[in-house]
Amino acid sequence: MRVNPDVLIIGGGLAGLAGALHLSKKGLNVTLIEKSPYLRHKVCGEYISNEILPYLQWLGINVSELQPSYISNFEFSAENGKTARTKLPLGGFGISRYTLDNFLYEKALENGCTVIIENVTNVSFDDNIFTVKTSQQVLTSRIVLGAYGKRSNIDQVLARNFIAKKSPWLAVKGHYTGEFDNSLVALHNFQGGYCGVSVVEKNIINICYLADYETFKKYKNIDDYQKEVVFKNKKLRSIFESSTPVFEKPLTISQISFDKKSPVENHILMIGDTAGLIHPMCGNGMAMAIHSAKIAAELVLDFYSGKIESHILLEKKYTKEWKKHFSRRLFIGRLLANALTYKTFTSIMTTATASMPFLLSKIIRQTHGSPITIN
Ligand SMILES: Cc1cc2nc3c(=O)[nH]c(=O)nc-3n(C[C@H](O)[C@H](O)[C@H](O)COP(=O)(O)OP(=O)(O)OC[C@H]3O[C@@H](n4cnc5c(N)ncnc54)[C@H](O)[C@@H]3O)c2cc1C
Repeated sequence: MRVNPDVLIIGGGLAGLAGALHLSKKGLNVTLIEKSPYLRHKVCGEYISNEILPYLQWLGINVSELQPSYISNFEFSAENGKTARTKLPLGGFGISRYTLDNFLYEKALENGCTVIIENVTNVSFDDNIFTVKTSQQVLTSRIVLGAYGKRSNIDQVLARNFIAKKSPWLAVKGHYTGEFDNSLVALHNFQGGYCGVSVVEKNIINICYLADYETFKKYKNIDDYQKEVVFKNKKLRSIFESSTPVFEKPLTISQISFDKKSPVENHILMIGDTAGLIHPMCGNGMAMAIHSAKIAAELVLDFYSGKIESHILLEKKYTKEWKKHFSRRLFIGRLLANALTYKTFTSIMTTATASMPFLLSKIIRQTHGSPITIN
C-alpha cells in the first residue's frame, strides 16, 4: 500500500490539474490519478473565458505560449437565420483541450506532482482517512479532491443521485480546416440543440454541438442527423459545407447531465464538472472548473495550516463558497438552455438582441464571473 500524499486528486482534466498546480506550488505533496494518457482530444467547445487568466498566470501558466486565438465577439443565430451580435464583456481565447490539458499536465510534473495514469475504481472514508483504489494499487490520504468530470464510474460507487437517471443530451465535436473569423465565438441554434463554432490554435476550427437524444435517435447516423436537423440553420450548413474535417470521425459523448449535484459527497471535495456542469452555451464550464479548484485548494491549505480545524469544517466552508460562486450561474444556464428549446422564444429573443446588442451582453454577464482575484 502506498501511503499519504497530502492530497489525492481523482481526475486530471482542467479542474484536477489546476488543483494539483496550486497545491504543489504551495508546497503540498500531491498525487493525481488520471485514467487516460495525455495527449487526447475531448468533447468541448474550447472557448475559454478570460475571467480565468489572472489565476492561470499566478499558477505559472502562460497561455500565449500556446498561440491561442483571441476571441472578442459573439454571434448568436436562431434556426430561421435571425442573427444577433455583440462584443463579449470579458472576451476569451480558443485553445484545444489536446494542447491545454497536456500543457498543464507537464507543468504539474515540473511542480513535483506525482501523476498516475490508472483508473480509480473505489474511494472510501474511514477514521478521517480516505482509501483510494485503482486497478493496480491502493493509496491513502487525508484529503481527496473529486475532479473526475461530468460522469464516471466513481459516481456509481458513491451512488450519486443524478447517475441513476437517463440524461437526454449528447454531444458531437470535430476539428476542421477552413475559413472562420478567429475573433468570433458563434452559437447557432437548431431544433433540439445548439452548436458552438470558434477557432483554436493553428487556425483550426472547432465545431461542437449539443443535441437532444429524442431527436437524434430518429436518424441512422450523424451525417443524416446533421443534414436533416442541424443544417436547417443555414449558417451551420454553410460552415460545415465549407470546412474540411481533420478527425477521421467526430468525437461523441452521451448521457450528459446538467442536474444539480452536491459539491461535497462522502467527504470528497468535488471540483469542476464533478460538482456541477453548466450548459455549454454559457461558454465558461472550463473557467468554472479551474475556479472551483482554486477555491478548494485555498481551503485545503487552510486545513493543513490549522486555520480550518476539522474535515467537517472544511467541507462546510467549501460547500458555502462553491454555492456562493456557482449556484446562480448554473441556475441561469439551465433556465436559458430550457428557454432556447422553444422556437418562438428563441426567435423573439434573437430579434430583440439583434437590435439591442447590450441585452445580449447583459445575458452573457449573468452566466460569467469577474476576473478571478488572487489573495
Ligand atoms: C458539448 C460541450 C461543449 C462545451 N464547450 C465549452 C466551451 O466552449 N467552453 C467552456 O468553458 N466549457 C465548455 N464545456 C464545459 C467543459 O468542457 C467542462 O466544464 C470542463 O471540461 C470541466 O473540466 P473538469 O476538469 O471538471 O472535467 P474533465 O475535463 O472532464 O476531466 C475529468 C477527468 O477525469 C478523468 N476520470 C474520470 N473518471 C476517472 C476515474 N475513475 N479514474 C481516473 N480518472 C478519471 C477523465 O479521464 C478526465 O480526464 C463544454 C461541455 C460540453 C459537454
